[in-house]
Amino acid sequence: MRKDIATPVRTKEILEKHGFSFKKSLGQNFLIDPNILTNIISAAGISRNSGVIEIGPGIGALTEPIARAAGKVTAFEIDGRLLPVLEDTLSPYPNVTVIHQDVLEADLKATIAEQMADMDEVVVVANLPYYVTTPIIMKFLMDNVPIDRMVIMMQREVADRITASPGTKAYGSLSIAIQYYMDAEVAMIVPKTVFMPQPNVESAVLRLSRKPEPPADVISEDFLFTVARGSFVQRRKTILNNLQASLPNGKAKKEEILEALSAAGIDPSRRGETLSIQEFAALSNALYGTFSGGK
Ligand code: SAM
Repeated sequence: MRKDIATPVRTKEILEKHGFSFKKSLGQNFLIDPNILTNIISAAGISRNSGVIEIGPGIGALTEPIARAAGKVTAFEIDGRLLPVLEDTLSPYPNVTVIHQDVLEADLKATIAEQMADMDEVVVVANLPYYVTTPIIMKFLMDNVPIDRMVIMMQREVADRITASPGTKAYGSLSIAIQYYMDAEVAMIVPKTVFMPQPNVESAVLRLSRKPEPPADVISEDFLFTVARGSFVQRRKTILNNLQASLPNGKAKKEEILEALSAAGIDPSRRGETLSIQEFAALSNALYGTFSGGK
């Protein structure tokens, strides 16, 4: 029997056989530790009734155990050089479809409708390229792609920011944008040694589960995130100063900002990092009429 793809010996064999060389610019750090894979699959909670979207299969290290556990797998890979490699390594798994495309350009709703209609749930499982972690997660959330969970390996520092609570150093607009849609928890911390080549930083596996209801009612999600981003431009400044600097014509409209802060029950001398998602929601609703430009 062939060894699992995610072992140092088999990975080296595959790379040599296909003359493959890593592209750092695409975040290519491949998993070479079967134990980590077992833990990712168990964190993903997938079964034969699950359809899985994988982003960046590489040479198939993670795709292989997903294919063994799930009903169907659709994997998006941007690097065309990996297509013949995947055809070879994943040949024993007929339930895998590989799409050669940048996931940021993919029509994910159409893919799910076409490929996953007979599955009970859709789960995203990925060891993401670090350089596009945030845009990829936000694409799934903001486009309202119908997924139930995401279990994602990423840089530990980004996982810490996503899961951060108000009042901590890591809390910021990314925490708000993701926690608005999802409950987020770190499932495990992962050392550099399980990758080939080894990255410079520690990684973490994050588990995101869709909230049954958003934590607050907002007029516009886009505007909520604009206000949140604008409130952290200079972390040491007050919410009033940051909003004056970031909102359109904010310098001249101090009175309107003060009124909105008062309507939302927020002291203008507080810093953005102390506001909960509910407070940001109330604030963005109060600012919406004057500052959203109808967005
Ligand atoms: N899943 C494999 C593993 O765990 O060994 C590879 C993970 S590696 C960190 C990231 C993979 O994502 C690479 O194969 C890379 O070519 C691919 N990739 C990078 N940017 C991408 C994008 N925008 N869309 C799809 N795949 C991408």
